[in-house]
Amino acid sequence: MATLEIHDLHVSVETENGPREILRGVDLTVKQGETHAIMGPNGSGKSTLAYSLAGHPKYTVTSGTVTLDGEDVLAMTVDERARAGVFLAMQYPVEVPGVSVSNFLRTSATAIRGEAPKLRTWVKEVKGAMERLSIDPAFAERNVNEGFSGGEKKRHEILQLELLKPRIAILDETDSGLDVDALRVVSEGVNRVAESGEVGTLLITHYTRILRYIKPDHVHVFANGRIAESGGPELADKLENEGYEAYVKGGATA
Ligand code: ADP
Ligand code: MG
Ligand code: MG
Repeated sequence: MATLEIHDLHVSVETENGPREILRGVDLTVKQGETHAIMGPNGSGKSTLAYSLAGHPKYTVTSGTVTLDGEDVLAMTVDERARAGVFLAMQYPVEVPGVSVSNFLRTSATAIRGEAPKLRTWVKEVKGAMERLSIDPAFAERNVNEGFSGGEKKRHEILQLELLKPRIAILDETDSGLDVDALRVVSEGVNRVAESGEVGTLLITHYTRILRYIKPDHVHVFANGRIAESGGPELADKLENEGYEAYVKGGATA
């Protein structure tokens, strides 16, 4: 069972006024087959956590450790992280001019598996995954992220998740504008990979509504750059009713 372990992670971001500490001691363990939801108010550092795990150059780890089965993730390049089985949905948020979805997926799969997937089986795999996600076949020939709507970006994300079969998936639901349709696609995809038992998922979200479709095993409240409280699905219900007020700066548990 693959295990991602984050221990006492401190991360700073470079600003005009010098470095600013955003993550202040994150502790979290995600095992293959588990679904964790990280929820918290805007600006609490949720995306910073995702970017840090992705190895984004703007974020500097000042102390703490991140390991995957004991291997130092922080010492790995972005590509090495992907090969080790850590999937970060926002790893390629940008447009990739002239690269079709279909080519992009095959190149990614080749990099991760260490050999090019056999064309015949690969075409079948892609077709099946696209059908499950109700994606129009023409989508495969479009250029990555070029003119993608929020919903199409999410579908592409989940398509990657299903085809690349990572051991640990980190999904940052940065797009608060997800419509119900996109929400359903994301949820079904996440539930499908969760049911496979092969993927550990870290679902980062501000809104509780996605948790009507996805039942996480663990819910963590993120506030002021660290996990303020952890619990089961009932914690999401509490957040839906009471909001994050108790956790923000000056609040009882902040
Ligand atoms: P969340 O995803 O929980 O809304 P973020 O991780 O995006 O929070 O941001 C946490 C804090 O760090 C915010 O105050 C934000 O302004 C700041 N921050 C994040 N990234 C940068 C950056 N690249 N430059 C300056 N400040 C940043
Ligand atoms: Mg730990
Ligand atoms: Mg965010």
